[in-house]
Amino acid sequence: MHDHDHDHHDHDHDGHHHPRPASEQELRTRALEAVLVEKGIVTSDAIDAIIDRYVNDVGPQNGARVVARAWSDPAYRDRLLEDGTAAIAELGFAGEEGHTMVVVENTPEIHNMIVCTLCSCYPWPVLGLPPTWYKSAPYRARVVAEPRAVLNEFGVELPDAMEIRVWDSTAEVRYLVLPMRPAGTDGLGEDDLAALVTRDSMIGTGLPLAPATA
Ligand code: FE
Repeated sequence: MHDHDHDHHDHDHDGHHHPRPASEQELRTRALEAVLVEKGIVTSDAIDAIIDRYVNDVGPQNGARVVARAWSDPAYRDRLLEDGTAAIAELGFAGEEGHTMVVVENTPEIHNMIVCTLCSCYPWPVLGLPPTWYKSAPYRARVVAEPRAVLNEFGVELPDAMEIRVWDSTAEVRYLVLPMRPAGTDGLGEDDLAALVTRDSMIGTGLPLAPATA
């Protein structure tokens, strides 16, 4: 089973602190970068800038803004479910790996989860780069075959009567889960609401945080 380091850290650079031999994929990536730079097609600075952007600037905080807006503004929620790409772009989030966004809404009857069974497709503009477990073979296979067991391992227990729907991302379509607004949040503004929206709650492997009791 994949590791369960899916807490509040968004890093998935395990090798950052623990040097290890490069994987074949890393070696291929380095070779590709070297060729592109040598041919003058890109500069290493440009590649570094893209990586820096997705590591530091683009992340689940974007998706959390989208969710908080949907919780606060019913008309926005309707637009978001009708045309996710356009509604997300209203908040300024768009771009690579997010050209066609579909937002699926959790309800008391339905819980949604997202996966890419083929590889690691993920909605970058709203969630940043995928966590390691999302890309792992066990998650990709098991979330389809036994979503409830996977959820339990993430610490989420849902009523038996609740239907679980699993959405398989593709090269074209990327999904975002709109979690249910937690109870006890009636008085909260969008900033406070966004703070309750975890990355995993937008993948469907988690639920939003409960509001701190005053
Ligand atoms: Fe993929």
